[in-house]
Amino acid sequence: MFTSINPATGETVATYPELTDAEVEKKVAAAHAAFAQWRTTDLATRTALLSAIADQFEAHKQRLGEIATREMGKTLKSAIAEVEKCVSGFRYYAEHGPKLLEPVEVPLAKGTGTARWLPIGVVLAIMPWNFPYWQVVRFLAPCILAGNVGLLKHASLTQGCAQAIEEMVTAAGAPEGLFANLGIPSRRVAPLIEDDRIVAVTLTGSEGAGIKVAEAAGRALKKVVLELGGSDPFIVMPSADLDAAAQAAVTGRIQNAGQSCVCAKRMIVHADIYDAFLDKFAQGMRDARVDDPMAEDTTMGPLSSVEQRDTVLEQVATAQEKGARLLMGAEKIDRPGAWMTPGVLVDVPLDDPVAQEELFGPVAMVFRAADIDEAIRIANDVPFGLGSSVWTKDPSEQERFVRDIEAGMTAINQILASVPEAPFGGIKRSGHGRELGPWGLHEFMNLKAVLRA
Ligand code: NDP
Repeated sequence: MFTSINPATGETVATYPELTDAEVEKKVAAAHAAFAQWRTTDLATRTALLSAIADQFEAHKQRLGEIATREMGKTLKSAIAEVEKCVSGFRYYAEHGPKLLEPVEVPLAKGTGTARWLPIGVVLAIMPWNFPYWQVVRFLAPCILAGNVGLLKHASLTQGCAQAIEEMVTAAGAPEGLFANLGIPSRRVAPLIEDDRIVAVTLTGSEGAGIKVAEAAGRALKKVVLELGGSDPFIVMPSADLDAAAQAAVTGRIQNAGQSCVCAKRMIVHADIYDAFLDKFAQGMRDARVDDPMAEDTTMGPLSSVEQRDTVLEQVATAQEKGARLLMGAEKIDRPGAWMTPGVLVDVPLDDPVAQEELFGPVAMVFRAADIDEAIRIANDVPFGLGSSVWTKDPSEQERFVRDIEAGMTAINQILASVPEAPFGGIKRSGHGRELGPWGLHEFMNLKAVLRA
């Protein structure tokens, strides 16, 4: 049994039964059977289904948003915006699908050659609670377009969102078995990965889950895409618009109560503007309106669970023990649920492992850098390499950051956010493979060489 607890109140929202082995078997068999049909459908059928799913998400955005807010605490405004982003994700693949799947001419010395994109089969997706719709859509929209079939193992926390997604896909007219939500706990994932009817796996989540899933996929020799954690640098140089940078840093750090893989977690600020930036940034963090996530003017709700909140508070306490100074906030709020205030840590010792850890909550670490070389050194001094955001008007500095920051993504003078058109993913311990755009679509396809005499 899964229990959804509203982190804003501590109350139980709903319970969901765990699927029995027989129920899982039925869904896997249906997925396998659905692939035999879906792989032969034409692109017009697939893109029409994507558009119909987009329509369902659009029509139900308020209700879907409320489910997410109640299950994991994000503000309703941001939950609805997430559903709207899902709509744009489905529409992107519906509109551009045929172009993205055009055969590629391969010039040959003898005869003619083309490379054709073909589907591969049933893909298992293991997804987290933090963007409970968008994370799933990043896998599902290209999966459907490719001619593949999807099975979802969603986070235990967000089973209501998982059910709602299944409902939207069914209501859009998807054929039986094309997509199914498997209500199972993580310990039941490895045997599924071994199942011959499942051909590939994609996971968004923690390093720990990534290791377990990659191990199981490796043993079964199956393709795996991993989107794991990050500790993204947010670098501010003297030429930057300081007000805009400080405001973006606040938004980046408190959106989704700091529980986003790609948000500004480590602010690295040039010494010449360090004090001015820190004043503005800390003021912005103090001004955050932490309250009922359903309310229109709330900027930050609770964290997703009491455990998640306590983990962040423990990390802050450890950082302080190692010599960091808590400039403001990061305090537990005394009300039922998973509440805390945004916080700012300074003077975090760079040579201590605490500086290299991901803080999956609304607490920023702010570092001072003497120059661009030191800023890049600090930025790269973590095991992760997911995103980054750099603030400078100087084109040569921008180019240095693009070239030298070890990350899958660099946003310039803006907050980093995933968009349907661009590749999304990381390097180092942030995982491998890409989602979104043509790259995410092609990850789970068979690029067949066709050679004609
Ligand atoms: P987890 O990795 O625990 O959970 C993510 C998903 O993996 C859930 O569906 C979970 O199921 C499942 N899972 C957990 N352990 C296993 C396992 N051994 N085998 C199979 N599946 C497993 O992440 P958290 O809930 O702790 O989420 C926070 C972490 O995820 C952070 O480190 C964050 O950075 C990372 N993350 C990365 C993102 C990215 O895009 N790169 C996006 C969001 C989060 P269950 O809930 O049932 O345990």
